[in-house]
Amino acid sequence: MAESHYDLAVIGAGPGGYAAAFQAADLGLRTALIDQDPALGGTCLLRGCIPSKALLHAARLLTDAEDADAWGIHFDKPRLDLVALRERLQSIVRKLSKGVQTLASSRKVDVLQGRASLKSSTTLLLSGPDGTRDLSFAHAILATGSQPAIPTSLKLDNPRVMDSTGMLGVPDVPARLLVVGGGYIGLELGTFYHALGSAVTIVEALPRLLTGTDPDLVRPLQHRVQRRFKSIRLNTTVEKLETRDEGVAATLTSSEEASTEIFDRVLVAVGRRPNTEQLGLEQTKIQVSPKGFVQVDRQMRTADPTIFAIGDVAGEPMLAHKATHEGLVAARVIAGRQAAFDVAAIPAVVFTDPEIAWCGLTEEQAQASGQAVKIARFPWAASGRAATLGRIKGLTKLILDSESGRVLGVGLCGVGAGELISEGVLAIEMGALAEDLAASIHPHPTLSETIMEAAESCNGSPTHLFIPKRS
Ligand code: FAD
Ligand code: NAD
Repeated sequence: MAESHYDLAVIGAGPGGYAAAFQAADLGLRTALIDQDPALGGTCLLRGCIPSKALLHAARLLTDAEDADAWGIHFDKPRLDLVALRERLQSIVRKLSKGVQTLASSRKVDVLQGRASLKSSTTLLLSGPDGTRDLSFAHAILATGSQPAIPTSLKLDNPRVMDSTGMLGVPDVPARLLVVGGGYIGLELGTFYHALGSAVTIVEALPRLLTGTDPDLVRPLQHRVQRRFKSIRLNTTVEKLETRDEGVAATLTSSEEASTEIFDRVLVAVGRRPNTEQLGLEQTKIQVSPKGFVQVDRQMRTADPTIFAIGDVAGEPMLAHKATHEGLVAARVIAGRQAAFDVAAIPAVVFTDPEIAWCGLTEEQAQASGQAVKIARFPWAASGRAATLGRIKGLTKLILDSESGRVLGVGLCGVGAGELISEGVLAIEMGALAEDLAASIHPHPTLSETIMEAAESCNGSPTHLFIPKRS
């Protein structure tokens, strides 16, 4: 058995925790990486980003085959083999998780399986398959992630009602699927199940899908899903779920009406909450915010100087790449390096069809703060590449400082938007001006040209858009 004192104990082996552990080991710290799950990778790899994106790839194969009709290529109706689909999914996850394990052993990180609970600012209790034991550490990083938040009104003791983890297992293709929550998970998994053949109803309590996302970017997505999903009910809540012989009865209530409808499955995707229970926080000086997140400073240090926190447990946005970046910062600070979480833009991508991606300031945020900005737009209908893909419904939008033209925000909606957004992140981080983007040659024909042409539109002369001059 490994020695039980470590320079660093990392609790949680998700994209935050394993990145932190690897960085710390590379910087010479004797590091333990602890997870209750026998497989490494956390929510993201085991039941989040990776399985959902693999399923969305399968969905894309189906919709591309459907769209092929328009190109004079006709496929027969697809035959689904859910056993093979699940096996493919599991093999991707297994391979990646094994890769993380191999990277950990190559770096001599001690991987310990068990549930950790802090006993003090320098000790923890590890309860694993081989019993319990104490570990001591000079520093610890909490990287315990988050879990689905299920309100009492949506709890029903019926296997037809599931959270994202259950639905990622693809138990079947429900004929009638109710998705509660029109956020990231609801829209991504709704897209997958619709492609497989489910009639999808989305119920969202607020007036908009993807609240907080620029409505200009949501519009092309909403337009497409409105034609494909059975229905999208905004300003509506699920009052009650009940088990009936024919399925789950959901009482849907809006200011205009209340109705009861029957569904074969219900996905509850109304947000996630940080994992802080039974973590022993009360044995330390750690402070928790009213929303339940562990409070940290820019170096990811909690109110207890030996303990750091990163990723979902340390606050929003709950995104894997934000967790990873925070993990690297925490490890570097603990190893005595100069580091802080000091970023101008955290990208976000919703992997729907079309995708939505943004970073930096949004137009609404600029309006709310009274910041003077100018907006540059390039509709994908004017993009040659979008035409060759048969996907001209999309938008590229830049939010620029009105005086200097400095890029403050970038938003995209369209196929492959998630792959394009990094140019926006780099532009913001480097303090680029619209003219820098316009003067950088972008390859033709690519969707990246829409960023260049949006930037050119600031001077009123994008090649593929005619902007009449004001007299
Ligand atoms: P996690 O990945 O949640 O890992 C925490 C780990 O800590 C877990 O393995 C858990 O077992 C372990 N743990 C918890 N408590 C203890 C304890 N007491 N002792 C020992 N171990 C413990 N984000 C993106 O950026 N892109 C996406 O495409 C994306 N898709 C998603 C799809 C779905 C369906 C879901 C649910 C989430 C998705 N996310 C996505 C969010 C992303 O998964 C999280 O932001 C990310 O996993 C957070 O990483 P983390 O390291 O903070 O924690
Ligand atoms: P979310 O916050 O994205 O969306 C939840 C939605 O549910 C909100 O629009 C909210 O208004 C609505 N809602 C809340 N209570 C409701 C109710 N009772 N009835 C109807 N609607 C209700 O949460 P999520 O979709 O569960 O995802 C959780 C988090 O996981 C995301 O915020 C994101 O950080 C992360 N995630 C990221 C990705 C990605 O990066 N592509 C994908 C999936 C999840």
